[in-house]
This record gives sequence, structure tokens and C-alpha cells, in this order.
Amino acid sequence: MYRTKTCGELRLANVGESVTLCGWVQRTRKMGGMTFADLRDRYGITQLVFDESTDSALCAEANRLGREWVIQVVGEVSERQSKNKNLPTGDIEIIVRKLVVLNESAVPPFTIEEQSDGGDDLRMKYRYLDLRRPCVRKNLELRHKFAFEVRRYLDQQGFMEIETPVLVNSTPEGARDFVVPSRMNPGQFYALPQSPQTLKQLLMVAGMDRYFQIVKCFRDEDLRADRQPEFTQIDCEMSFVEQEDILQMFEGMSRHLFKSILGIDIPTLPRMTWADAMKYYGSDKPDTRFDMKFVELMDVLKGTGEFGVFNEAEYIGGICCEGQAVYTRKQLDQLTDFVRRPQIGAKGLVYARVGEDGSVKSSVDKFYSPEVLENLKQAMNAKPGDLILIISGPDTLKARKQLCELRLEMGSRMGLRPKDKFSCLWVIDFPMYEWSDEEQRLMAMHHPFTSPKPEDIPLLDTDPASVRANAYDMVINGVEVGGGSIRIHDAKLQQKIFEILGFTPEQAQQKFGFLMNAFKYGAPPHGGLAYGLDRFVSLFAQLDSIRDCIAFPKNNSGRDVMLDAPGFIDQSQLDELHLQIDLPKE
Ligand code: ASP
Repeated sequence: MYRTKTCGELRLANVGESVTLCGWVQRTRKMGGMTFADLRDRYGITQLVFDESTDSALCAEANRLGREWVIQVVGEVSERQSKNKNLPTGDIEIIVRKLVVLNESAVPPFTIEEQSDGGDDLRMKYRYLDLRRPCVRKNLELRHKFAFEVRRYLDQQGFMEIETPVLVNSTPEGARDFVVPSRMNPGQFYALPQSPQTLKQLLMVAGMDRYFQIVKCFRDEDLRADRQPEFTQIDCEMSFVEQEDILQMFEGMSRHLFKSILGIDIPTLPRMTWADAMKYYGSDKPDTRFDMKFVELMDVLKGTGEFGVFNEAEYIGGICCEGQAVYTRKQLDQLTDFVRRPQIGAKGLVYARVGEDGSVKSSVDKFYSPEVLENLKQAMNAKPGDLILIISGPDTLKARKQLCELRLEMGSRMGLRPKDKFSCLWVIDFPMYEWSDEEQRLMAMHHPFTSPKPEDIPLLDTDPASVRANAYDMVINGVEVGGGSIRIHDAKLQQKIFEILGFTPEQAQQKFGFLMNAFKYGAPPHGGLAYGLDRFVSLFAQLDSIRDCIAFPKNNSGRDVMLDAPGFIDQSQLDELHLQIDLPKE
């Protein structure tokens, strides 16, 4: 037996036992005639003691140990003189009587401890060393538990996990595909699935009734902190359901996950229409950990004074920041710079402070009468000591998005967005379509298989942009953790939706013929959703980036710096695939 115990399990109750442990040497310390070593494995850290006075040869061997050497020790569990309260094993140590070096280690490129001295790039290059750090390993443990509880819940609800292929053709979810050349079909390519969307719908036609899969999806998009080119979805689909059935089922799953993993009882999820989310938060994924809702101020400030910017605006909205009238001029200038950053793009910011006496002092005082400022205070429901911040613009959607950024910034500054507080909701009634300036056409907001609300179907002919979809997102702390829809199961309606999206009948047939054909053979009403597992886990783990809960993530340029992928392939491989590389000049 290599070991009888792990490095995480020995306690005072084990004192006197003879044990064998294996692990990595985190570090050694020599103090007088004693040598101490911290031995680490997946389960914890245990202190080893080598005593020169009892066995000088053994102690000399211990003094040779370097960081990350792999060793086996046999010794006796003993109570520690100076206990370490921060370690679960901190009450004991092992008086070693036998040491076996199982493997030496080169000096690691960074310290493998809770706090590392290695930068991001270095740690990613040696990710297998980074993963030895307890704080990183902890995230993978949480991920495992999460996936396990998902399976437990869905299994109890009668869902079947079914694998779908990874080599498929394009499924349109609006991103670019990763493609794989086919050697056996020269000139042809598979696409990696952006999601198993059409396949899970076919599984419903196949009568599987309740499907799920924890599955890799691939999207060739520009990367951000919460995006990876390959990511994992909890993909689900159900037959003979309406939206309400799905919301109940998956609210239940979230409740189960919060309870079983974090021990938190979450309240019933509020439901907010997309229109309200945009109106009150300027976002379809509002962070509802704090209030600070938008108040529209068109009636109060447009045309009621001489301020040209407001008089020409299509939207004026404000937020009221409680107790923040103490903001200095300099701090307000910083906020103005913040909203003017190119990513946000506001022209500026108007503010009003409410004094302790209730009087209002604003940056546009000279344009407005005291009555108008009083109306502003009333409309904002502002109290003495509050700060009102106002954004306006010629484009309502853009101005709302800018105000959203400002609200989130103020929420952060005011400490209203703690990572250990969770606020979940459903956003429902998304529009079917959004206008794309780039493509100059309506695009499906969710995807082309989403059904319109029955009462809005007549509008498909007259005013498609106003049609609402049976689509829903689950949002937690301003993060879209999941989303889905009730699907179209009628071939004719599906055909019509493709038309509105600008596909000719031939194009629709070519791209989605397999699906529309399947719908001819008795497609049940069905719907579903998919969660982003990485995002959901990183919320639970309170991480800033989804990368931290992925064992081997890619960097912002989509590279795996450890594997050095992607890479070039041999000419012979290219020849076999009949591919020629034509790199741009630069
Ligand atoms: N396939 C969709 C997505 O990846 C989710 C769904 O509609 O079930 O966003």
C-alpha cells in the first residue's frame, strides 16, 4: 500500500497511530536540529517532523528534499506543540521514521501555495502545477459537485442524458462556427456544434420526452472574461410543455443547486418582462442585488428649461444614489470620465445633490427654475443626502445601456454587489427579433426555432419587430446563466419564420430541411433551455472569470498556452485533406 491515510484527514484522535502518507513537499524548514516539511496532496497539508537527535541519517535525507518532490513517509501521529488554527490538520504532526523519495522535481516556476508568485501566463503554461494549489483545486471540486447535483436532480425528474455528436453541420446560434475538414469527403467540412439545439429537438420528435446533456459547445467569438471558445452547457429539452412547466422545473433545479451546494434557500424567482428589464435597468440581465431603478425624466426635464441637450434628447433617465451627495466635484468628474469611455460612449453626465435641508443643487441649475428641480427630486424620490445622476441621449436603447453601466458602477462603489449575495430572476417575453445594422435585416433574438407568443402571431405579417417570443432567461447577479424557449413544432410556422429572417424557401430547405422534414412526422409541442455551466459554477465559487473553474482554459486569444494550440499541421496532413494555406501578407 502506498499510503494508509491522506494528508487531509489526521486529527488529535489519531495521535499515537502509525501511518503512511504520500504527497508533494510544499516546503521545508530547518530549525535547530529539527527539519519540518509540509506534505500536500489533494486532501490537505500535513506537517512532517524529522529529528536529527533520533535519526541523523534520516534528517540529512530530509534536508535534501526540494519543493514538489514526491515522497512517501511512515511515521507516528503526534500532538503538536504550537498548533496551527488555519489548517484542519493543524493540531498534529508526523514524527517520521521512514522516508522514500518517489520522484524528484525540478524547481517549480512559481510557488505552489495558496498565494502564488506566478503571473497569469506562467500559471497557465504550467496549469498542472497551478491546479495543485488548493484555491484552484477547490473550484474544480465545486464544479464536480455542481454537475453531480444537476444530474441527480434531472435524473429524479425523469430526464435522460443522451449524447449528441460533436461533428455536425452548422447550427445557427448567431456566432461563427469552428469547422473540421473531412478527409473522406474532400472539400467538405463538419462544424462543431454551437449547441445541440436542433439535435435535441429531433430527440423530442423521437419521443425521448425529457432530455439533458452536460455538453461542450463551440463558438468562434471574440473572448471576454465570461467567454471561452469551448464551454459547457447543461442542455435540456422537454415535450408536451408550456413555458410555465419549464420555468417551474428549472427554478426547482436552481433551488436544489443552491440548497445542496451552498446551503442557501432561494426565494421564488421574480419574473420580469424584457420590456421592464430594459426600462428599469437598461439591460436584459439586470443585477437585482440592489435597487436603484431608472426613473424616466422626459416629462420633468425636456422642454421645461433652457438646457439644449435635454431638449433634444429622445431619452432622459436618472438613478438615485442613496447618501452619496457627499461625492466631491472631483469624484463626479471621474464618473463623467467613466461614462465617456469609448466602451460606454455617453456624452456626459448631469448630477444633482440633495442637501440636508432638502434643497437641490445640480450641474444644470442655471437652465432650470427651482420648481423644476423640486419636481426632479420628487420624481426621483430623492431624500436629503442623496445624489441623482442623469444620462440622456438621442437613442433610447443606447442611453439606457449607458445608464446601466453607470448604475452598476455606482452599485459596486457603494458595496451593493457582494459576491456572496445572490439575486435570481426570470426575464421573460423577449422580442422575437432584433434589427441588425450590420446585416440590414431582422435577426432572431434567441434562435430561429423559438415560437412567437400565440397572441402576437398576427403581427408577424404586419409588424414583425413587435412580436414577442416564448423565450426566457434565468439571470443571477446580472449574469445570464441560462436561457431557452418554447419551440415551433409546426413546419408551416417554422417556414414562415425562416422567411421573415430572410431565408428563401430553397435556402431554408438546404439548411434546415432535416428539421422541417422531421416536423412532418408528428413533432410534439416542446421547449427547453440551456445553462452555461462555467458561468453558473463561477458565480457559486465567487470568481471573476469562468477560466478559474475550467481545468485547462484558453487565454484571450483563444490559445491553450500549455498545449501550444492551435498550431500548424504537417504538409502531408494538409495534402490528405486537399487544403492549401493562404496566409495574409502581414
Ligand atoms: N440552444 C440555446 C442556446 O445555446 C438554448 C436553448 O434554447 O435551449 O442558447
